[in-house]
Amino acid sequence: MAVKVLVLGGGSGGLVAANKVKKLLKEQVEVTLIDRSEYHYFLPGLPWVALGMREVDDIRRPLARLEKRGVNFVQANIEGIDPEAKKVATDKGDFGYDYLIVSLGAEPLPSPAADAVAPWSPEGAMAMREKMKAFEGGKVVVGVSGPYYPCPPAPFEVSGMVEFALKVKGLRERSSVEVFHPNPAPLAPMGPVISGTVLRIFREKGIRFHGEFELAEAGDGRVKAKDGRELAYDLLILVPPFAPNKVVRESKLAGPQGFPTIDRHTFRHQQYPEVFVIGDVVNPALMLPPAGVVAHFQAEYVAGVIVSDLKGAYIGQPFDPVAMCIMDFGDNALLPQCSFEAVLAGTGMPSCGVMATGRWVRITKMLFESFWFATLLG
Ligand SMILES: Cc1cc2nc3c(=O)[nH]c(=O)nc-3n(C[C@H](O)[C@H](O)[C@H](O)COP(=O)(O)OP(=O)(O)OC[C@H]3O[C@@H](n4cnc5c(N)ncnc54)[C@H](O)[C@@H]3O)c2cc1C
Repeated sequence: MAVKVLVLGGGSGGLVAANKVKKLLKEQVEVTLIDRSEYHYFLPGLPWVALGMREVDDIRRPLARLEKRGVNFVQANIEGIDPEAKKVATDKGDFGYDYLIVSLGAEPLPSPAADAVAPWSPEGAMAMREKMKAFEGGKVVVGVSGPYYPCPPAPFEVSGMVEFALKVKGLRERSSVEVFHPNPAPLAPMGPVISGTVLRIFREKGIRFHGEFELAEAGDGRVKAKDGRELAYDLLILVPPFAPNKVVRESKLAGPQGFPTIDRHTFRHQQYPEVFVIGDVVNPALMLPPAGVVAHFQAEYVAGVIVSDLKGAYIGQPFDPVAMCIMDFGDNALLPQCSFEAVLAGTGMPSCGVMATGRWVRITKMLFESFWFATLLG
């Protein structure tokens, strides 16, 4: 009988994992992916949606296309995970498994400011587009509610893109763009080379950065830091706070602060070895960034681990703890890259460098988007 592999979440991690397990193990496995959404979204495309470069339909594909690849897709709301009974409860019934891969992501909490927008969801991107359309110039403030949110570089990318959009709309002279973050410099954990490059690009674009700015409150045209600093805004782009996915947080998989307790090298759950957890729902607890590229490589690695379990010693895809992110600033772009090898080994900091800068780098993001859809849901 085929081994039942159940994948929770059709985002970056889950989509890659389902594809890879099926590709490697074929008839030996029955792979089922559950997501409440009908679609997989290419989330790096959300800022493009916010600025009118893409429509929501352009950055999503139906998850039902997985069926063509031999993966069952069930659109259902996951309500609970019971690792003792090896069962997942959904509004469409219960699902059992031999192996469970959990990639349910980080969950947005309510924004501290009712008038803030942020392209961290399709609805958020469309709301930002409306605000941008109505904006006639003034003070734009971009910031984050806390340190945990998907894609550490994205707020800096969004501020660069907004500055470019203001130039295109002829509003730049009448506007300012300011960015705040709890870190002392943009992408400070990636080291001075990356931070310095972002700050140089910000200087060239006239964007002001406010570091060590921990948000205390926001609303009515002002954001306030815990140390008393205040910034006035006419348009606030504020990334909401995030928490580990609620279903995971409330299950027996959860450990301290709601993050599952997993082996940092194999992503197996420490108590339930047939359960793997990858992606944004766990990575901050491993000191890895909540980024799609990390979830992707974890998914490929976990697929290899399951092959090893079922077939014996499998020398497959090693886990490459690298992250790269193309930051599209409109009239410029930056491709930073980091290895988190020393971080995972507990011996040091990430080792990072700038792979490329320049306007042309934007094209690589567009090419990647096409590649992503073609290889996973084409
Ligand atoms: C604006 C923006 C830009 C980004 N840019 C980049 C980038 O350039 N490079 C990069 O590497 N990363 C980027 N990211 C981050 C990247 O998208 C995430 O890190 C990645 O998607 C995480 O993958 P995941 O599988 O852990 O979770 P997700 O992709 O968030 O997937 C979780 C899935 O679980 C489903 N789900 C959750 N709860 C339930 C439930 N109860 N029932 C059923 N289904 C459920 C959701 O519908 C979702 O499909 C960006 C993110 C954003 C928001």
